[in-house]
This record gives sequence, C-alpha cells and structure tokens, in this order.
Amino acid sequence: MGVMHIPGHEGQKPREVSLKEIRAVLGDCRLCQLCQTRTNIVFGVGNPHARVMFVGEAPGRNEDLQGEPFVGRAGENLNGILSLAGLRREDIYIANVLKCRPPGNRNPAADEVLACSPFLREQIRSVWPEIIVTLGNPASHFVLKTEVGITRLRGRFHQMGHFTVMPTFHPAAALRNPAWQELLEADFRMLGQYLAEHPASDGVAGAGAAGAVGTTGFGAAGVGSDALPRAVE
Ligand code: SF4
Repeated sequence: MGVMHIPGHEGQKPREVSLKEIRAVLGDCRLCQLCQTRTNIVFGVGNPHARVMFVGEAPGRNEDLQGEPFVGRAGENLNGILSLAGLRREDIYIANVLKCRPPGNRNPAADEVLACSPFLREQIRSVWPEIIVTLGNPASHFVLKTEVGITRLRGRFHQMGHFTVMPTFHPAAALRNPAWQELLEADFRMLGQYLAEHPASDGVAGAGAAGAVGTTGFGAAGVGSDALPRAVE
C-alpha cells in the first residue's frame, strides 16, 4: 500500500502532512457501508505531536453521537488508568481503525478495515509517535500484522520498525472482565516504567513534540516509507 494522495504532497515524509489535511481528505467519507448508519465520523483527537498514540477499534454509541473517540465509560476508564503511565489525556493522540460505528458495536468487517485503515496509517505518519498502544484485538492485529490474540500479545513491547508497540486490552472490554482490567492496569504501569526509563530528549514524558525528534531517528536516514512497519506502509 502506497502513501495516500494528499493534495499538495507527493510521497510525503513522516510529520509532513497535518492531521487537518488528512481530515479534509476524509471529508464526508462514503467508502464503506458504515457511512449509511453513522451519526458522526470519529476522526481522532489529542496532541498532534504525541509521544504516545493510542489506537482503538471503532467508535461506540457515545463516540458516534459525540464525534469523539473514547468518551463514555470506556473513555472514563482510559482517562483513569492513563495516570498509571504518568500520562494525561492531553498528552496523547487517540484514533480508531474505523472512523464510523459498526451497527450494534459488531466487530469491524475486513472490507471496512481495508477501506478505512489508510486514514489511520496517515494519522500515524502525521503524529509519528514513538510508542503506539493498541487497544484490543482489531487494533493490535492491524498494527502488528498478526492474528495472535491479545491475551498472548499483551504484557510486553513489540518493535515494528520505528515504533514501539504495546498491545493491551480495550478499556471497554476490561470493564466487563475484572481480570482483564487488572492486566490492563499492569500494562499501563509497564508503559509508565518504559517512559520513565526512556525519557524524551526534552524531558517531558508525555509530549513528544520536537524534542522527540532527536531520540527517534526522525530527521536522520530512513524516514521514507521503507522505514515503516508494514502496518503503516
Ligand atoms: S468507516 Fe472509514 S471508510 Fe467507512 S465510511 Fe467511515 S470513514 Fe469511510
């Protein structure tokens, strides 16, 4: 998969295209059937230069109604456990694999992921985080290009080219399973430890911004698509 055509850019490098430009290309997207049942497109929200980017599955009911990811109970759960990693909501960027809600919160269909994931890929290239936290199976499978279940993937970091990836449970699923909630919280503490042991060069654990550029290799060799993991190529 090549880079998406963004007006004014050709073969864009990481961080070259703004999130605003990607949102403009998305427009009133009708590339898959979910356009017929959505209330709002849920693009993504947060720090455009985040050191840590979170990727979820798809909007739920509240997200669909409000047009923002991770609101409602799942969002409250996420906000609560972010502090275990020393993060605040304003430090991170959050987006989903799908930008429109599947009816009844069913799992994303393969053709929907195929249609929508190029937008997520461009968002990842725009934010160019150091760490990607994937929440639940669909997001973890997309980013890590695996079918291995989240219970086996979680609890450790995976290196995907430039990105350090931490797969963990989805906060909505963890609300229904206390054992998963405990593991989710353990993963966030592990993330906090990683961030503390690998401070960004500007010394701000939550915000990547320009300070992270020197620590991630961005700006040096290998910033073209060859350096990207397959998931975002
Ligand atoms: S889910 Fe994605 S591809 Fe499908 S209509 Fe919504 S924005 Fe477009």
